[in-house]
Amino acid sequence: MTRKEFLKTFGIGTSVLLCASQAYGFLSKGTKTAKSIKGHIFKNDAPPQPWKWSIEGFHYATDGTKVQCQICPNRCILSPGDRSICRSKVNIGGKLYTLAYGNPCAIHVDPIEKKPLNHFYPGTPVLSIATAGCNFRCLNCQNWEISQRKPEEVHSSELFPEAVVEALFPPV
Ligand code: SF4
Repeated sequence: MTRKEFLKTFGIGTSVLLCASQAYGFLSKGTKTAKSIKGHIFKNDAPPQPWKWSIEGFHYATDGTKVQCQICPNRCILSPGDRSICRSKVNIGGKLYTLAYGNPCAIHVDPIEKKPLNHFYPGTPVLSIATAGCNFRCLNCQNWEISQRKPEEVHSSELFPEAVVEALFPPV
């Protein structure tokens, strides 16, 4: 079995198990025992309503009021009206919404060597799509102008995943 096949087979299964167990943990133990990095949540910073791009997140747990995002190890716990560490997720009315979906602020064709990949199709171009915000706070970030901004603070394009696929693979 190749490395790629191994990751495909076991990586997805492990992720599903981890998400399920973490969601169960949050719901069964309540927010007092769920682990989350504290101090970087933007309190009361969510827009009053989801905006036109917003969709409800897929990977989060809720007790009906607070939500806990299950996407990255920050495990943000958001009360209604709060914004996440990565600036792009908000709790509106007890649901987790992403403000970045279909809303990229950077679209480039890059050489694949710029990506954190090792000898993966060297010499080929790769499409880069970035949205505002980031779950890190690296002091040497070369993309700080978009990584440390909220989606509402940057110039964005309306570009949904279906349109990207259609542009790359036009129907024949
Ligand atoms: S930083 Fe963003 S992606 Fe990570 S847990 Fe918080 S809301 Fe989710």
